[in-house]
Amino acid sequence: MITIKRDLFKNIVKIIKKYDNIVIARHIGPDPDAIASQIALRDSIRLTFPDKNVYAIGAGVYKFRYLGTLDKVECSELKNVLLIVLDVPNFIRVDGIGELEYDAILKIDHHPSEDIIGDVDWTDVSKSSTCEMITDLLLDSKLEMDTKIAENLFIGIVFDSDRFLLQNTSLDTFNTVYKLLTVSKINFVPLYDNLYNRNFSEEKFRAYLINNLEISENGMGFINVTPETLEKYKVEATAVSNQVNNFYFINELICWMFVAYDEKNEIFKVNIRSRGPVINEIASNYNGGGHKYASGARIKNPKDIEKLRKDLDQACYDYLKEQEN
Ligand code: AMP
Repeated sequence: MITIKRDLFKNIVKIIKKYDNIVIARHIGPDPDAIASQIALRDSIRLTFPDKNVYAIGAGVYKFRYLGTLDKVECSELKNVLLIVLDVPNFIRVDGIGELEYDAILKIDHHPSEDIIGDVDWTDVSKSSTCEMITDLLLDSKLEMDTKIAENLFIGIVFDSDRFLLQNTSLDTFNTVYKLLTVSKINFVPLYDNLYNRNFSEEKFRAYLINNLEISENGMGFINVTPETLEKYKVEATAVSNQVNNFYFINELICWMFVAYDEKNEIFKVNIRSRGPVINEIASNYNGGGHKYASGARIKNPKDIEKLRKDLDQACYDYLKEQEN
């Protein structure tokens, strides 16, 4: 096992060494794990190989600006490029590579495999986060790490494991974090401010969600937040996604589906979480996917929202029946 990993890390460093132009991409609608892994790996490659051109691309998110800045680069002008894809398994959800011609792909991801297969490929669904994987890589290869890189990696792991609460947290996660904190000596408690500080309006909105969530007799929670409600509570559509992880550990809820209309892209954005049935296969029937117990979907037709809701409710019913036996 250790030898396999050593060989894998050697191959990762080898392919990075081979290319002078490197573009690092991740999924659309990025979260802190996606952006932190991207910026941390970019900064590490720059630190280790100062002569390389390394760019972290994709749309920036204002509230995650504390992680660092992304690069503006004319992708169509780059030649002999290594594309590094982080935290996303399918081409359709990679942000910003439309114009890019690349010679090879290095993929590092913790989602179930889809159509992106890297020339060097490290896919491990047992990992809490892509940041956990990048931390392992940096700790066990010649790729360097400084304080800011370590801070970003810590933030990504904490975010994606939801403070080590979620099922994706393993003994390996704690082991990796222990090593990260030991080696980097970062002062990690102040880092929670950036992740968890919020306005009171978001809390009032959470109260709205709690008061208006419909829960079926099978433990399936559902809410569809209208643009008017978002306006009333003075929050963005992203506030809905931000809240979905706050609904774990409620006895009456087995699975929950939050919907918000994204007016800019004219699409319904759906966040789904589960403490029982596997949901990513169901989400994949609705232009979605993700992890076994944390998935999302983008839906055009409002009728599909109801269909997905029913499918999830049925999955909860089946799950409960199975538990009875
Ligand atoms: P979210 O609910 O946005 O936090 O997403 C939960 C998980 O589902 C993440 O791993 C996302 O990358 C994945 N995901 C979200 N939306 C989609 C989608 N439309 N297609 C595939 N995977 C998705």
